[in-house]
Amino acid sequence: MDLPVDEWKSYVLQKWSLLPKSIQVTISTAETLRDIFLHSSSLLQPEDEMFLKRLSRGYLVGKDPNAPLFYREEGNKKFQKKDYMGATVLYSKGVSHSRPNSEDISLCYANRSAALFHLGQYETCLKDIVRAQMHGYPERLQPKLLLRKAECLVTLGRPHEASQTISDLESNFAAKPTLAASQFQVLQRTLCRLKVKVQEKENLTETSPAALTKAFEDVDLRGENEQISSTSSSVGLCTDPLKGRCLVATEDILPGELLVKEDAFVSVLNPGEVPPWHRGLESKWDTRATNGDLYCHRCLKHTLAPVPCDGCSYAKYCSQECLQQAWDLYHSIECSLGGLLLTLGVFCHIALRSTLLARFEEAGKVIDKLCGEITNRGTCLPESKNLAQILSYDLGGESKNKGKTVETPIPGCDINGKYENNYNAVFSLLPHTGNHSPVHKFLCALSVSALCRQLEAASLQVFTTGLKSSKLKAAAAPVLYPELNIWGVAMLRHMLQLQCNAQAITTIQQTGSEKNLITNSRQVRLATGLFPVVSLLNHSCSPNTSVSFISTVATVRASQQIKKGQEILHCYGPHESRMGVAERRQKLRSQYFFDCNCPPCEREKQRPSQGPGREAFCCHRCRALLQGDDVLSCGSTSCTESVSRDHLVSQLQDLQRQVGMARKLLRNGELERAIQLLLGCRHAAESFLLAEHSMVGEIEDDLAQAYAALGDWEKSAAHLQKSLRVVEVRHGPTSVEMGHELFKLAQIFFNGFAIPEALNTIQQAEKVLLVHYGPWNDEIQELQKMKSCLLDLPPIPVGPDE
Ligand SMILES: [Zn+2]
Ligand SMILES: [Zn+2]
Ligand SMILES: [Zn+2]
Ligand SMILES: [Zn+2]
Repeated sequence: MDLPVDEWKSYVLQKWSLLPKSIQVTISTAETLRDIFLHSSSLLQPEDEMFLKRLSRGYLVGKDPNAPLFYREEGNKKFQKKDYMGATVLYSKGVSHSRPNSEDISLCYANRSAALFHLGQYETCLKDIVRAQMHGYPERLQPKLLLRKAECLVTLGRPHEASQTISDLESNFAAKPTLAASQFQVLQRTLCRLKVKVQEKENLTETSPAALTKAFEDVDLRGENEQISSTSSSVGLCTDPLKGRCLVATEDILPGELLVKEDAFVSVLNPGEVPPWHRGLESKWDTRATNGDLYCHRCLKHTLAPVPCDGCSYAKYCSQECLQQAWDLYHSIECSLGGLLLTLGVFCHIALRSTLLARFEEAGKVIDKLCGEITNRGTCLPESKNLAQILSYDLGGESKNKGKTVETPIPGCDINGKYENNYNAVFSLLPHTGNHSPVHKFLCALSVSALCRQLEAASLQVFTTGLKSSKLKAAAAPVLYPELNIWGVAMLRHMLQLQCNAQAITTIQQTGSEKNLITNSRQVRLATGLFPVVSLLNHSCSPNTSVSFISTVATVRASQQIKKGQEILHCYGPHESRMGVAERRQKLRSQYFFDCNCPPCEREKQRPSQGPGREAFCCHRCRALLQGDDVLSCGSTSCTESVSRDHLVSQLQDLQRQVGMARKLLRNGELERAIQLLLGCRHAAESFLLAEHSMVGEIEDDLAQAYAALGDWEKSAAHLQKSLRVVEVRHGPTSVEMGHELFKLAQIFFNGFAIPEALNTIQQAEKVLLVHYGPWNDEIQELQKMKSCLLDLPPIPVGPDE
């Protein structure tokens, strides 16, 4: 997803292998990105572009005039089955394929408003009603829509507007004597009912509930940092000869303290799975909901009612405002390139968007920097010599220049030594040009070249003439006219930077059916972004911070106490509790080009015979740890058991299959059968897996889910507590995984009305989750609601019943 699709990758690979040795050597040994780009670009042939075009055409990114009807009908089917969520997604797909101001789009919006109504999303429903009317909803269908509107307004406690809508409706009837008698009766009856409701509401005194949701904007840093934007004053920026830039605590930091709150400089929504029709399979239209259907393409907020771009079917937004902003900032140029960008992958897309965003910063500086890159340290404007010198650090091989820059000892900072979330800082992130394989650089350069050609063909000089702001136009005017090649080199730089600096933007998605009272959550990757401040954090396999996201904003919190002078660290992915040391080292070396020497790595390096850790097998007789390679034997001296690894592995696979079957039963509501199967699985697991094995925890968790669905809260709690113990051993008592598990347990106690246990668990869960997410987290909000509900319960009456 990050890199181009496999077809293009293997095409480029083949092209590379057929290049004359001398050219391969030229590209491999090129010292600057400019040389790599220009050499590769000159090798891009028309047939290569044709091949890429064919791949791009496989994506349905334009508006297909036949799709709205198809999606509307599919949506209606779901609606009939009362699957309103599913219907909403399909109507949204219909909307995105419709032309503005067409009957198609108004019908899709209107149907979506009905589904949203049933989902209790009244505000959003009202918005969709307005959209339907704006796009010319047919007159003959108006009464239905107006009724829904009145109903929404009543429910929302806005009786005056509801009355107005009702009188609109009545005059609408009066004007249309053509309505069938039966229809008319239904409408009349509904109207009467509504009028009563309106009256009830009007009689009530002001009941509008205070907004529960604490605005995220309120969450603030302890003190604004003078040196690094978006960062707490308890953090300082340093450079280390070995590690490069790093963040260090300048005072003692407590667990849960907010250290960084940074909006992405750039982010691109990951489109989700590649749809099957992409390869010319049976159905042209995809009915599954992907990230692209459910999250705003600009701000990444979850939305049930996206509004699509007028020009394409793939860009969808939470609101007209986001649509407009995206259009002004980048989408006006990206709109026609959807297929190509999906083919070339998210990294290439981010590279393009970063350079498009760069246009809105001090254009002079940016163009200067880019000119420096293209002319290899030349300058465009005499007066900017100084700036170009300062920036020269960024322009060539980064390592050999280290220490030569005097004006700004820390790369990415401005002349005053301030590090900000801007293009200058993004540009300073290391591309590690020397570490990437030649063929990877060739792939990136060729992909960027193809994109540049396409941009050139689509609209010449988009980078300068596309500028909306007249201030920027003025700023760009006196500068040497930048060629597309300049931006090409910049994009190549970004593409190479991304391997080490891309930050996955994740969200917690609730899983499980709507009926299920216990929500299971999992972390999903939503988008990829660049965060210049977060990028300053170095890696540890056992970090002292926790990163989470809301919309496009990353927050970094201390997950434990950090003493003054200690480095602030975050985990790039290979976490101690999820990966063995060998796997971690391999991953960090291949993706991030360094050898980790964090405390767990050092510890494990010194004692390499530690064995396979908690995912190990145990002896079925005495439950001692089994040791060995191909044949494992019992660790207990009094036991002579031995067994082949192959046998154990196939036993584990068998178990996984059975658990998979049980989950299917669980989803289908066959609870008793699921429980029987899971109990069997647990018995089997106990015979050969350590008690802390993740599989054991998962089985207990599934059992807890099943009993919860049956309403047997006591059994559910007992199983979840066992799962909790596994999570605690594996991830630690204050880990975010522990927080999610405690949240589930709190829900179970709450539903089972075990009040003291519930209050106790709510407190524990809150404590852990607060450290990782801060107070605006959904789960914490829910915990607080549960708590106040329990505390507000009337006292149990004493004495005998009647
Ligand atoms: Zn948005
Ligand atoms: Zn578009
Ligand atoms: Zn490590
Ligand atoms: Zn044994």
